[in-house]
Amino acid sequence: MRLGKTIDKQLQTQHHGLSKRERFEKRVEKMESGCWHWTGSLNKTGYGQFNLNGDRPILTHRASWLIYKGEIPVNSESAYQTLYVLHSCDNPKCVNPEHLFLGSQQGNMDDKMAKGRHAYGNALGEKHGNAKLTPDLVREIRASAETESQLSKRLGIARSSIYAVRRGQTWKHVT
Ligand SMILES: [Zn+2]
Repeated sequence: MRLGKTIDKQLQTQHHGLSKRERFEKRVEKMESGCWHWTGSLNKTGYGQFNLNGDRPILTHRASWLIYKGEIPVNSESAYQTLYVLHSCDNPKCVNPEHLFLGSQQGNMDDKMAKGRHAYGNALGEKHGNAKLTPDLVREIRASAETESQLSKRLGIARSSIYAVRRGQTWKHVT
């Protein structure tokens, strides 16, 4: 399959003599709990970021998926272009690929329901005109180096919502 070959080739690309996986693992501390703690650079909201492809930093759980599991498939259920990388361990800073799974937006909601946090999410953002936003997406918006209009286009979310998220006017509870 051509796509798979491309990914393999990308993963083998050396950077300062180290593969992407080696660069990533140098910044990971494996905890007794099984979670992988990120010790590398953080974005301004305190989330781990990693420059996987040498163009711009991305959130570390998404980088982890791309390194260990492969491509993040297109999300057919949402305007958001790819599926979400979600945490089964409920630790948003964890980068252990075994604690990550893919979900659509609905999957994210189901996951929240299962964890009993649905009411919390609704009260604090998801039903206040930001129906398309999720906590992981809010973190991605805040971590991204893209402009508001680029993000708006890529994620299918109104620019005004992205501005408000970045200024901390909405989704204040998401850190
Ligand atoms: Zn974990």
